[in-house]
Amino acid sequence: MKKDIHPQYHKNCVVTCVCGNSFETGSTVPEIKVELCSACHPFYTGKQKLVDTARRVEKFSARVAAKTSIGAGKKGKKVKKAARAEAKANKEVVVKTKDIKKIAQVTLNAKKK
Ligand SMILES: [Zn+2]
Repeated sequence: MKKDIHPQYHKNCVVTCVCGNSFETGSTVPEIKVELCSACHPFYTGKQKLVDTARRVEKFSARVAAKTSIGAGKKGKKVKKAARAEAKANKEVVVKTKDIKKIAQVTLNAKKK
């Protein structure tokens, strides 16, 4: 190896995580401090961990809650349309005629629908 160009190698570099876990490894620095390690990373733990710096998660949940509470009282387009169709179907057909054949035809047409 060429002299005076390689940094000093520490065989027992201690890696310390904010979760309290620590382990040794080899490095050019004697100590490493990390925020995530394999003991606390969501990929390994399977639990959700949110780093909410600007209250973004909180704001989003509040927005979703507000939207669902507003929408609960309203009826959708489909519901309204179905109600209108039902009202139309129940409407009585008033025929103002004396011709008995015409009345029979109208009632037949109404039954067909
Ligand atoms: Zn950790």
